[in-house]
Amino acid sequence: MSGLFTAAFLRRIGWDVDVYERSPVELVGRGAGITTHPELIEALEASGAGTRDLGIKVERRITIDRQGRIIGERRLPQILTSWDRLQRLLRATVDPAHYHLGHTFTRVEQDGGEVRVTFAEGAVERADLLVGGDGIRSSVRQQVEPTAQPLYAGYYIWRGAPNEADLKPETLAHIFDCFTFFLPERQQVIGYPISGFDNDLRPGRRRYNFIWYRVGDAQKLKELLVDDHGRQHDFSVPPPLTRRDLVARMRAEAEALMPECLLDCLRNIAQPFITPIYDFTAKRIVHGRVALVGDAASTSRPHMGFGVSKAGGDAQALAAALRDYDDIDTALACYNAVRQPIGERIMMHGRKLGTHLGVDLKTEEDRRMWKLLQSHEAMMDWIAVPNFLAQDARA
Ligand SMILES: Cc1cc2nc3c(=O)[nH]c(=O)nc-3n(C[C@H](O)[C@H](O)[C@H](O)COP(=O)(O)OP(=O)(O)OC[C@H]3O[C@@H](n4cnc5c(N)ncnc54)[C@H](O)[C@@H]3O)c2cc1C
Repeated sequence: MSGLFTAAFLRRIGWDVDVYERSPVELVGRGAGITTHPELIEALEASGAGTRDLGIKVERRITIDRQGRIIGERRLPQILTSWDRLQRLLRATVDPAHYHLGHTFTRVEQDGGEVRVTFAEGAVERADLLVGGDGIRSSVRQQVEPTAQPLYAGYYIWRGAPNEADLKPETLAHIFDCFTFFLPERQQVIGYPISGFDNDLRPGRRRYNFIWYRVGDAQKLKELLVDDHGRQHDFSVPPPLTRRDLVARMRAEAEALMPECLLDCLRNIAQPFITPIYDFTAKRIVHGRVALVGDAASTSRPHMGFGVSKAGGDAQALAAALRDYDDIDTALACYNAVRQPIGERIMMHGRKLGTHLGVDLKTEEDRRMWKLLQSHEAMMDWIAVPNFLAQDARA
């Protein structure tokens, strides 16, 4: 997403840009839901990607209890989209001749005003600038800023997106149109509607994004990272390899905990999978003629639903700096000065919201925030809301 945003914004100011993607085939998401924010809408419009058929407008938030009764409600209109839709809109901004699948970055060498980039498949490219938009485990960052490493937050999520058509009429009537919270102690279940296969927005064809946050220490994480073939992974297990015994145990635990409408969602997720939660921030996001954007530059916990918005904002700021300064190095210094602190603030805000789960509450401020978020009213006011950075001031 950050790579495509960067390409779109730089082309608009007259740069020649090529995008190199590791995957040998076009990327498709697994129905991952994405909360939108005003910054994302603005970046999509300004990049030329646009916002056509962006997603589903939800009007309200609800919190439900163990019996499924609504115990809190808020009006908060918000558009919920999906990874696939955003990827499709952004991908269309890049000329196919300049989008190169099957190119795995391995090394960059810098020589004054030039970068020389080597790919595992054999290609070598020269350019004025390398932008690393290669995600949380960025190989570009690994080379230029190796001390910046993602930290496990002490919790993980089970996720999936059941088809609307498979859900019971009662579930549809009760929660499908809402951004829904269910908040047992030290856990969160969050759900909202997203488009169906091939961005189908028609009623009956949509899906419900389902996320269940659970606490698990480093030892538990290690156990979760063993796949169905018994292989240990370092950071995450590819979804199709999620261990069946873990899925069975998770389903049994859910049956004892959740209201019927959420169980209906979970039972209709054929292949639930686990995402461990990590965050980090890099001290510098520019190293000579290498700039980092999106999750490669900093990654926050997903409580704000702001990762793609930040990716768009990074790309936009990079292009604005390169437009405003004739000298590339001065422009890059400006980009670093503007966006590195923003990435850090967003990450810190994510940690603040993560205190809800009661993990590793170190400071007085952590405990104060944890206490505030024990109220479901506060959760509805703080999780994935627009203009969240202004909340820091009033907390
Ligand atoms: C559970 C969860 C929920 C989230 N919810 C939201 C939400 O509601 N709203 C929101 O805005 N964000 C959300 N996010 C965050 C969002 O998904 C990320 O911030 C966003 O995808 C970052 O985009 P990116 O382009 O920087 O990185 P990525 O999406 O990780 O893309 C990196 C790309 O680089 C490629 N790549 C990697 N290594 C190489 C290499 N060596 N060579 C070439 N290519 C390479 C990868 O194949 C990939 O295509 C959520 C994240 C999680 C985990």
